[in-house]
Amino acid sequence: MKMALAIDAFSERELFETKLKESEARYRLLADHSSDMIAVLDVEGRYLYVSPASFSLFGQIQEELLGRLATDFAHPDDVALFPASIRETQAEPGVRTITFRRLRKDGQYSWVESKIQGVRDADNNVIQIILTARDISERRQAEEDRRVAAIAFETQEGLIISAADGTILRVNQAFSKITGYSAAEAVGRKTNLLKSGRHDPVFYAAMWEAIARTGTWHGEVWNRRKNGDVYPEWLTITAVKGPAGEVTHYVGAFADITQRKATEDAIEHLAFYDPLTRLPNRRLLQDRLQQALATSVRTKREGALLFIDLDNFKTINDTLGHDQGDLLLQQVALRLIACVREADTVARLGGDEFVVMLEDLSENRNDAAAQAKVVGEKILAALHNPYKLGSSECESSSSIGVTLFGDHHQNMDEILKQADLAMYRSKAGGRNAMYFFNPEMQLAIAARATLEADLRKAVRDGEFILHYQPQVDNSGLLTGAEALLRWQHSERGVMFPDRFISLAEETGLIVPLGRRVLETACGQLAAWARRQEIAHLTLAINVSAGQFRQADFVEQILATLDSTGADPRKLTLELTESMLLDDIEDAIAKMSAIKTVGVSFSLDDFGTGYSSLTYLKNLPLSQLKMDRSLVSNAPSDPNAAAIAKTIVFLAQSLGLAVIAEGVETEVQREFLESIGCRGYQGYLFGRPLPLEVFEDSLSQKSSSRSTGFK
Ligand code: C2E
Ligand code: CA
Ligand code: CA
Repeated sequence: MKMALAIDAFSERELFETKLKESEARYRLLADHSSDMIAVLDVEGRYLYVSPASFSLFGQIQEELLGRLATDFAHPDDVALFPASIRETQAEPGVRTITFRRLRKDGQYSWVESKIQGVRDADNNVIQIILTARDISERRQAEEDRRVAAIAFETQEGLIISAADGTILRVNQAFSKITGYSAAEAVGRKTNLLKSGRHDPVFYAAMWEAIARTGTWHGEVWNRRKNGDVYPEWLTITAVKGPAGEVTHYVGAFADITQRKATEDAIEHLAFYDPLTRLPNRRLLQDRLQQALATSVRTKREGALLFIDLDNFKTINDTLGHDQGDLLLQQVALRLIACVREADTVARLGGDEFVVMLEDLSENRNDAAAQAKVVGEKILAALHNPYKLGSSECESSSSIGVTLFGDHHQNMDEILKQADLAMYRSKAGGRNAMYFFNPEMQLAIAARATLEADLRKAVRDGEFILHYQPQVDNSGLLTGAEALLRWQHSERGVMFPDRFISLAEETGLIVPLGRRVLETACGQLAAWARRQEIAHLTLAINVSAGQFRQADFVEQILATLDSTGADPRKLTLELTESMLLDDIEDAIAKMSAIKTVGVSFSLDDFGTGYSSLTYLKNLPLSQLKMDRSLVSNAPSDPNAAAIAKTIVFLAQSLGLAVIAEGVETEVQREFLESIGCRGYQGYLFGRPLPLEVFEDSLSQKSSSRSTGFK
């Protein structure tokens, strides 16, 4: 019985073990052929068994893994998942799933989904762990792609997915925001829901043709929002094709470019228009002139360019302030527009320079010139009317230069230059005037260019000397001299200032040149001071606008007096009214500073300008220099005589001396003496002479003083 029992017991155990082996073999078979890796771990997580899938999945053979910790192969960030799930497995039966990155033989990681289950003994203790691992990299990638795609679909850009027939299948939020149609309103409708009607059928035909040919199209399209607004969008349409190449869907992506277009327009406006007057600027004028030239060649009709410059803008700007100056420019712009036809162009080049371009004038040059003249005169008159600037009122005038263009003319820069040149001619001719360009002016430009180069060289090489013209009092005694500049040109001989002073002004060469004059004159004064018989002589020098405007003009004078040792009381600076008027405050400040050391000022060419008595009182002057034209006319011309008398009277009442220049005849001298003018300069007493000749004549004169300086 016992035996039988034993046999029974044995056979039962044997049976159990056989069954176990069978099942183990079955599982082993399953495990060996599973595409997932199946592993048995001990409770510490070490591999006890690994199925062959470890090789196909991770490139690792079983021997490499046995005895190693499963966590050794987990991504550092995922290691922590293991102890947690093993703890749970021990605490409670059941299957746990974890997803982690597992290291492969090649050093890369695969996304793996593992199921973890405990194997328990009779006392329900976990003695082993079964772990399966499935590679889910592809699945995860697909999921990620979907997620990204879903996010991407909700971008700033509006998106439409439509069927091949144009039925809207899906739209994103940006679509609704831009178009005003909710997804529910749009889906099921056709894409032409958004059509603005701004494009013709040809436009759409070309678009669909491009999509059919290349699979895509992009460009600017005007569409209509739900509220009826038409707006510009930047649209890209892409065809989605099925396996056989047939179009299954279209994807449209678009951005609302209303803002961008507005900015572009603003930028364009900035680039081509003057912000102050809203007139076309130089660039746009050049474009239009180019076009006008082309048109003119075709139609044979002439065009005209009028270069307009305000005469006293700087003064207005300085006295009334820049705000008022701006107002003036705006009013000038309006008046100019009112003077021309709609098709003509009014442009502002900058500052107070404007250009009017007239097109489509007569085919005949003379007639065209006459037409341009009419417009020019209209402009002169219009700009001469008083201006009301806020609370103040002011007057202005303009100088206009005109040139014709047409068939005979191809170069646009040349046209502008010609008009500019003619404008300068108007300025020189007394302002508030209009001049036409002519070929002689052209020659003058070329000559000027040569002269400028020569002048530059002459200043560098010191080709200048001073001549001295005597100044006498009413008893004929020599009181001093005016220093007058001469250029000893190597080829052209002696050149007089009227040939080069204005050029020196324009080129800035007047600054070094003027300094040289100042130094020479002061040096001369110092030299005379050492000779008793002529130590009393004064010397007058001419100062030009460009020199006077220098910020360091005062310092320059003081430093030169200092370095030469000249007596400031013997030096006179001759200024003209026009240069003072530019900035009267500054002029007074500079003159006052120089006057404190004893230097005198004389107002040159007096009686010809627009002398204003109010400012004359404020200027720290010592002398008025009566202009030559008055001197030569006064004896016979009652008008000039009256002015001459007034000048003397004025000088007396202001406590100023008067000297008359250009006195050539005894009649003139007597007249001047009769009206009370006590100082003279002119050929009657002596021409401007080189230093040696001047000094020689002095010694002769000093020996025959009684006869006066004649
Ligand atoms: P301005 O200051 O009015 O000088 C007087 C001009 O009249 C001188 O001409 C002189 O030679 C001339 N003149 C003198 N007496 C008579 C006369 O009886 N009859 C006639 N018909 N003319 C007479 P110039 O030397 O040719 O100088 C012309 C102008 O050039 C000067 O006019 C002055 O404005 C300017 N200038 C001369 N030297 C200088 C200088 O060193 N610096 C500057 N900035 N300008 C100068
Ligand atoms: Ca002078
Ligand atoms: Ca003069």
